[in-house]
Amino acid sequence: ATPTALLVGTGRGAQLGILIKGPQVLESSRRIDTVVLDKTGTVTTGRMQLVAVHAAAGADPGDVLRTAGAVEDLSEHPVAAAVAAAARAATGPLPAVADFTAAPGRGVTGVVDGRAVAAGRPGWLADRWGAPAGDDLRAAADAAERLGHTVVAVGWDGRCRGLLEVSDTVKPSSADAVARLRRAGLRTVLLTGDNERAAAAVGREVGVDEVVAGVLPEGKLDRVRDLQRQGRVVAMVGDGVNDAAALAAADLGVAMGQGTDVAIQASDLTLVRGDLRAVVDALRLSRRTLATIK
Ligand code: ADP
Ligand code: MG
Repeated sequence: ATPTALLVGTGRGAQLGILIKGPQVLESSRRIDTVVLDKTGTVTTGRMQLVAVHAAAGADPGDVLRTAGAVEDLSEHPVAAAVAAAARAATGPLPAVADFTAAPGRGVTGVVDGRAVAAGRPGWLADRWGAPAGDDLRAAADAAERLGHTVVAVGWDGRCRGLLEVSDTVKPSSADAVARLRRAGLRTVLLTGDNERAAAAVGREVGVDEVVAGVLPEGKLDRVRDLQRQGRVVAMVGDGVNDAAALAAADLGVAMGQGTDVAIQASDLTLVRGDLRAVVDALRLSRRTLATIK
């Protein structure tokens, strides 16, 4: 390959809002036939809103929100930002947290006011402390998921104390981007750690070929490898710590400019404006640049 033509390609990429790690990247993107899209923060804005607090019997909703908000304030997950902002708005400055830990794709833990707190995906909390007790809470979780909302379970000292219901919005450009990818003959897969129904709602809205939900970060990596074993050449697009392994394993890793540093470091391309339509531009650019060389 002529270095000059490749460098022209990378320069054109910058104009399109695509940062390319090196000229060799264009070469690897030429044979892509499958595009795997993370949901939260990639297809959706990731600017989530808290829509409801459901407290377990005996727990105070304000306390549940404030306690979860304190721990989530230290997390970089989009769900966490919504919980922390709502907690601060409703209850004022948040209490201090000791011993914070983050489990990517699962949730967070920390000690608040002497309580050992966990907040995260309901299945993860249930594995530690059992499912939330009470028909009310189960019904609330069910209704939330049917609306396509994300549910965060909150607990401390060995018990689930409530559920937080969070909503997200699909980026206005995402459906158009998926339509353009499909028109270019690419298979599109939505891959998310979120619940089935939230994932299906987004999948329908943007029109992807396939939806895979409820996967942990290791599952995202496995899924990319499975596709590659089937002979597919895979581009993975993501923004989170939970996407990093899959981004690195994909034939082409694409990070959102607004994403976490870990995702950007693991990727070959970064979409500065976080607009998925730039994926189509990037694939087209690499084909055109390489055609110039040949
Ligand atoms: P996606 O694949 O859509 O980007 P993630 O894998 O990041 O989603 O997260 C999967 C699920 O794990 C979320 O829907 C949420 O329920 C839960 N989760 C992950 N991190 C957190 C956190 N910091 N606080 C609460 N829930 C979390
Ligand atoms: Mg994400």
